[in-house]
Amino acid sequence: MNLILLGPPGAGKGTQAKLLEQKLNMLQLSTGDMLRAAKDKESEIGKKIKLIMAEGNLVTDEIVIELISENIDKSSKCAGFIFDGFPRTLYQADALSELMSSKNQSIDLVIEMRVDDSQLIERIVGRYSCKECGEVYHKVNRPEQKKGVCDNCENIDGFIFREDDTEEALRTRLFNYYRETSSLVGYYYAKKKLTTVDGLLPIETIHDLLYQATKNNL
Ligand code: AMP
Repeated sequence: MNLILLGPPGAGKGTQAKLLEQKLNMLQLSTGDMLRAAKDKESEIGKKIKLIMAEGNLVTDEIVIELISENIDKSSKCAGFIFDGFPRTLYQADALSELMSSKNQSIDLVIEMRVDDSQLIERIVGRYSCKECGEVYHKVNRPEQKKGVCDNCENIDGFIFREDDTEEALRTRLFNYYRETSSLVGYYYAKKKLTTVDGLLPIETIHDLLYQATKNNL
């Protein structure tokens, strides 16, 4: 069972992928997380990736396809993959389909998380996460319960803001979503893989919907 979570930045893909991962023994494959790890390396390619991401632009198809392919090969012991932030272009979608076929697998379900654009900026600007475990917080919507302490892992070593969670970078990310990624909604609809959920529902309600849809495909 392999699932794609599709939606603009701030739709909640990462949060939902993590919740599903825990419950269904699936593995989240987030190209954003892979690239964040790659950009911190002091290599030429690391520096290029850092700049592209900070501006909110897309890294080349070749780089992300390579990263996905490596990570699929490394992880065989799971009930399936949850693709989060990948594919983001039609080229990547075709490449993923080929990659899955070459491993006698397929994409079984694509869930579009739909959120009103005006809500996205508010959701993203003010977002931060725990340095240690990556738990995501928000200044207004979800601050940590005890100031400076992660609710999840009790780390007191601090929180980090993503460099591309500024209003300016977010506008570029949204622009790129509509220019490059949103046509994947029609692409997967035509392939009869698409289900849409309202990304503005409470996190637990969305999780229940995603869990049922995924379980029905297992
Ligand atoms: P995310 O964590 O999914 O919001 O991704 C953060 C940033 O990583 C994006 O704004 C892009 O710069 C880059 N990125 C992540 N996934 C992809 C992808 N599939 N294709 C190209 N760039 C990506």
